[in-house]
Amino acid sequence: MTLISMNTADYDTKLEILNTIKKWETIIIHRHERPDPDALGSQCGLAELIKGTYPDKKVYTAGFDNDNLAFLQKMDPPKKEDYADALVIVTDTANVKRIDGKAYDLSENWIKIDHHPLDDSYGDIEWVNTKASSCSEMIADFWLTFRDELVMTTEAARLLYAGIVGDTNRFLYSGTSSYTMQISAELMNFPFSHTALNNKMNVIKPPVAKLMGYVLENFSVNDQGVGHIILTQETLENMDIGDKDTNGIVSLPGSIEGVKAWGIFVQQVEGHYRCRLRSKGPVINEIAKQHDGGGHPLASGANAKDKSEIEQILGQMTEAAEQWTPEAL
Ligand code: AMP
Repeated sequence: MTLISMNTADYDTKLEILNTIKKWETIIIHRHERPDPDALGSQCGLAELIKGTYPDKKVYTAGFDNDNLAFLQKMDPPKKEDYADALVIVTDTANVKRIDGKAYDLSENWIKIDHHPLDDSYGDIEWVNTKASSCSEMIADFWLTFRDELVMTTEAARLLYAGIVGDTNRFLYSGTSSYTMQISAELMNFPFSHTALNNKMNVIKPPVAKLMGYVLENFSVNDQGVGHIILTQETLENMDIGDKDTNGIVSLPGSIEGVKAWGIFVQQVEGHYRCRLRSKGPVINEIAKQHDGGGHPLASGANAKDKSEIEQILGQMTEAAEQWTPEAL
């Protein structure tokens, strides 16, 4: 069975992106800082798709490596001078401030491909689809739209599949649509082991397992179903854990009965707190925006300068939780 892209509304933008890619010999792909599987999957998946289709083009991937996700791909960074005559594509990144590998501003030609709400417009071409489960889904949709022309490789399929699995939490979150499943099925036709990949993505290091225990034991939930935990630098150091290891515990409180929304507040070396906010329904990205952050309606990030700002965020989340009525089954 051949799928046609359901996302016909974006056809003109996708065609413009394809035609622009064709014109450039050097393409540099960026994504957001602190990359997760979708950031890496969309960035490196697009790079592999372009390389598979146009082997003569030079395609670089920019940003810092996340050692925990090295099994996806390591960066293939450009040199500063490569930007002089290059097209820059940024995937999965809502705002300029969060683009990793800051040399992106050396190019004058930008494309943004993203599935976050459009809060910060940038790029000569902007393709934003907030209905997509993940930016990796958008890249796979791009391939399907032009599948007679674009060459999907097994490596690209593996990366995009990983991105979709990551951002949907294995097809659990509300962004998962029937199209997500169709696209995933198409990617699964390529000969990579999705079982091995799923297992790898599910592995946690022993210190993270200990952190899970700590979070479950010390997590507090108020009467309105808003939970939180503060992870101080001291706690992280005692457990031999770094900020990026908190990826492994962010979704954990969502399984606790009665929890509607929650925040994991991770103290940074400089003293302030990275706020990782999640929700099962109450909209939280508008709250995140008021605290130097942003993100999706149900998965956002922010920054709190001290504990009183954390209290303020929790108060706002509590108001949102009070106003929320869960969907019927
Ligand atoms: P995280 O908790 O870092 O996994 O982030 C959850 C979501 O919020 C992701 O879609 C991020 O792109 C977004 N996000 C996290 N931190 C920020 C920030 N400081 N500003 C804007 N968006 C953010």
